[in-house]
Amino acid sequence: MLPALDLTARGKTIHDLGPIAGPLDGVTGDILCCINNGEGPSVLLLGGIHGDEYEAQIVLRRLAERIAPTDVTGRILIAPSINFPASEKGKRLSPFDGQNMNRCFPGKADGTPTERLCAFVTRELFPAVDLLIDVHAGGSDVSVVPMVFGFATGSSKVDDARLNELMEAWGYRFVQHVDGIDETACGAAKLADLASIEVEGGGGRMKTAELEIMEAGLLRALAAFGVLKLQLAPIPFECVHFSAGPEGQYLASCPALVEHCISLGDEVAKGQLVARLHPTMGSKATAEDVLAPLPGYVLRQTEHAFVHKGQLIGNIGTPI
Ligand SMILES: [Zn+2]
Repeated sequence: MLPALDLTARGKTIHDLGPIAGPLDGVTGDILCCINNGEGPSVLLLGGIHGDEYEAQIVLRRLAERIAPTDVTGRILIAPSINFPASEKGKRLSPFDGQNMNRCFPGKADGTPTERLCAFVTRELFPAVDLLIDVHAGGSDVSVVPMVFGFATGSSKVDDARLNELMEAWGYRFVQHVDGIDETACGAAKLADLASIEVEGGGGRMKTAELEIMEAGLLRALAAFGVLKLQLAPIPFECVHFSAGPEGQYLASCPALVEHCISLGDEVAKGQLVARLHPTMGSKATAEDVLAPLPGYVLRQTEHAFVHKGQLIGNIGTPI
């Protein structure tokens, strides 16, 4: 699909992904950076599958610029903004076909721009690597604690035990355990027997501290994987392994203004006050209390002050 794509070329090569999506009004395309230093482990870093999750895109573009071939053992592929049609327009979903890229895998080579980009990743990039790292963030709507989760199969080069070691190498406090969805990048990787790790963290406005956490986590993981030659200090804390499902979500019971009473990452008891919903109009200012549906840790909080009935205010993960 990119006739000049040669992922075996030594050194650092930059490829233009624009032609894969086809001509799009006001969009110039983004890059795939291949840093190849011969034999060794290989990894694909994807950013911006959801176009408005910009932390990942800033950090991956930085890594693509800064990592030199001599820093690498093996090969690192980096696509900072794989969903560039959405990223360049400031949107989560592609404004050209309205599709959610993380529900379009494995894609179609002759499909919509989003499906074509997915097919390129699945057909051209997955077979070239031992591990996929798919970096997300909260985007415009929510803030998310830094966390990772991953998938391996009995036939993937990175097995479950190694995957767990790598996830703990991030040094993040939270490691999630989830069932995968086949149509996501990680789900498609699993179907192709490629191990994958999805990263979350940040959301809303870009904050220096969150970018630093994301970059440091990726560097620790790449060093632990052996693809980056780096000496890193040990991590001073232990991870919390947790699961999170719909039962941990707390939603708005009516249109309201949200006051968060706890912070992202806080541990909460069942029934603890987590938010207040203030009326949007009228002479009564009495707020409705929102209580934690489960004991655990607050993983997500809405970035919106105004919420509609049924909209997510936050969610809680349960330690396992
Ligand atoms: Zn995302």
